[in-house]
Amino acid sequence: MILALAAALAAAAPAPAAPAKAEVSVTRRGEGFEAEFVLPRAAPAWGFFRSSLAADDRQPWRPRSWTILTSGVRLERRGNYDALVGEGDGPVPRRVRIRIVPYTREVLSDYVPALRLGGDGIALFDGQFSLFSVASLAELDRLGLDPQDGPIGDGGTRVRFRGRPSDLRLAGDNAGYAIGNSAGTYGLYGVPGAVDHGGMATVVDPGMPAWLAADIRTFTPQLLDRYRKLLGSPGSLRPTVLASWAGAAQPGASLNGGVLKGLVLMRVSGQAATRPSPPLRALAYRYIAHESAHFWLGQLLDYEKVADNWIMEGGADLLAIRALGVNDPSYDMRAALQKSLTSCLAASRKGGLATASERQDFQAKYDCGAVLSLLAERAAGGDYPVFVRRMIADNADDRSVSASEWLALLDTYPAGRGLAARIRPLLAEAQPTPKGWTDLLRAAGIRFRLRPDQTPELM
Ligand SMILES: [Zn+2]
Repeated sequence: MILALAAALAAAAPAPAAPAKAEVSVTRRGEGFEAEFVLPRAAPAWGFFRSSLAADDRQPWRPRSWTILTSGVRLERRGNYDALVGEGDGPVPRRVRIRIVPYTREVLSDYVPALRLGGDGIALFDGQFSLFSVASLAELDRLGLDPQDGPIGDGGTRVRFRGRPSDLRLAGDNAGYAIGNSAGTYGLYGVPGAVDHGGMATVVDPGMPAWLAADIRTFTPQLLDRYRKLLGSPGSLRPTVLASWAGAAQPGASLNGGVLKGLVLMRVSGQAATRPSPPLRALAYRYIAHESAHFWLGQLLDYEKVADNWIMEGGADLLAIRALGVNDPSYDMRAALQKSLTSCLAASRKGGLATASERQDFQAKYDCGAVLSLLAERAAGGDYPVFVRRMIADNADDRSVSASEWLALLDTYPAGRGLAARIRPLLAEAQPTPKGWTDLLRAAGIRFRLRPDQTPELM
């Protein structure tokens, strides 16, 4: 869900009119924070783009976290939105101060507004402050789940986290906001122990179980350095991997997270995670390796249409699998790729890869995308990062790549020549048998043997 949301944000088109930006400055005050909103115009109400309800009771979370300090305005739920509403039919004052007790629990379908990181540390999500104006309360009450479809005033919101450099660091991309509900980053206050390396950073919650904290602190900087060496500079991004510990209250172990521009966020929780667990370590490494690959394949360069996002997901999977193989010689890359191939063949029976998302088959773009990336790797002489670098360089103008551009690039390699004609049908149509894929693998020179049931087994 969060990954899909991030992709949607990246694809959001700018609104036609561009009124002035709202400015929000956020300062730490004792146990909490104070946010000062400077609103660029008079309006009877300002709604918050990200108004997802609290996950535990499906009620608005802001009233439990925010206290309005300015008179003449109150915080209310109006329709689908939390909103600042002017008192007595008046407009919302142009300056509004709010005290914030960070809300650190899950919300239904968004990033957590705040994360507690060890003793004194807190990460505050800037997306919670982005807001839009409406011309009347009735409009806000009627507004659907996508505010962009309604009559709203939106010039964007610029959030500035303020604090001493020793107390505050910004994860991710701090270029500020675009229009809409876009978000940049978490502001990290009082988070010690960040590992900085050449403009990239690894931040591990001091509360993280020591065995996993140590592994992440070693693995992640090596991984990011390796990616940068192979793929080039991540541009203006300052990639940050933030691993947070969400407590041992539940049995078992769980890992989830989300991705913002320049930021990979991972949350680990559960009783079982407090003791060394090789499967959990493997899961964490795979997560970090895949999501960090998106700093290049997905952020420095993006896909054009959802139909083409197998380029990013499959590419990130292949980069991750190769990185894990380098990190640990006992990691079975062949088995990981075989899993992608087998799942891809199953997904292909239902329809072409380009329409997988329309069928709600979100895994196909990872699996079939990894197989197609394997062909690119082979065509580029066994060096997939070289292919990625060319993809990034060739599409520097619009920073996005389409399937036909990808196929054209593949065609420039002698070993990739003619493969496009075999790949197009796999993108467009269902494959009731494995033949289309096995013919392609053979033409690309990828070694496999056929099992008795005619499915391929990579060698
Ligand atoms: Zn991904």
